[in-house]
Amino acid sequence: MSLHGNSEFGFELACCRWVEREWPLEEADCSVVVARQLGTKRRRWDTIVLECDPEGLRQRARFGPERLDGDLLHIIRNAPEEWTYYRDALPHPGYPWRYVRESIHEADDRSVIETRRNGNRIEIRRKWPYPDWLERIVAIENKPDLDASAARTLGPQLEYDVAMALADEVWVATEATGDRVEPALFERLPVEAGILSLELEGLDADVAWHPRTLPVAAPGTRIVERPSGSARDASAARFEYVDSQEKADRRLEIAERAYERGWRSFAETMRPDCKAYELRSHDQFLPYCRAKDRLPTAAECSGSCPSYEPEPPTWRTRGWPIEGGPGKRLQKLLEKRRRRYRPGL
Ligand code: SF4
Repeated sequence: MSLHGNSEFGFELACCRWVEREWPLEEADCSVVVARQLGTKRRRWDTIVLECDPEGLRQRARFGPERLDGDLLHIIRNAPEEWTYYRDALPHPGYPWRYVRESIHEADDRSVIETRRNGNRIEIRRKWPYPDWLERIVAIENKPDLDASAARTLGPQLEYDVAMALADEVWVATEATGDRVEPALFERLPVEAGILSLELEGLDADVAWHPRTLPVAAPGTRIVERPSGSARDASAARFEYVDSQEKADRRLEIAERAYERGWRSFAETMRPDCKAYELRSHDQFLPYCRAKDRLPTAAECSGSCPSYEPEPPTWRTRGWPIEGGPGKRLQKLLEKRRRRYRPGL
């Protein structure tokens, strides 16, 4: 049985690890943050790679490991150097000021801005400028078995990504089979999407097709509806335009979520406190189930797993009296790894 459990989940984790080790593919002075299963309401990507300015990434750490959502970003990016009444300092957010006040209190609780009262006015002052840390976003779809039917399903999703151009590059990662990726499959995918062929055991990859850089600073086109393609359907596709500012805001919100989550958050939804749970391979720290003798999927490894057995209480008292048992220790190990890729925290 493969270390990766022959599942899409295992492939996805291997892809994240490979990216973390090898990205950027061409020489560039950038730091990389990798996350899983993120995107917008309409489109979620399997793997997200943030290419970051190294110094900017370090400065981002001052704001803590948790993400800053759109409302907090509005305050932090506009907070002035000197004490100022918040309504004079911030551009009108497009929604009632009372929501802004709530976000100001939240920002203050998280110690990412300073506030004070001047009579009954709230004044704010920034602690640090919010850095320009995000350079590029790369989105990767994982399709270990990229056959004709998978390419047919994936084609429209990638066309959506290309038209919207929210990510700078989109890729499909597929499992290397020893054969070349079938050229016929390329025709079903937009030429702008790259294809990566990933060899799991040695954790190595080849670029089968190079992607094109997408125009992220230009307005995007959202494909709302497309004709079915049948002879009787002569309707035109329907589009909506998304302006550049909205795209820039969405990109930063995605990046903030990726920064918070990373890709090692898988243990948060699994059962590392199960007796059978392990992290295997010194290099990759992938989850492994001794009962199933393979990598479990996130859905299997839950409280409803019939083979779940809680770690015995004695494990918690022998050597781990305060931190809890091995389950807690594994989570800490993953957390430590996650932090290693977010310098300055
Ligand atoms: S037995 Fe079930 S709960 Fe325990 S590690 Fe395996 S999959 Fe997870």
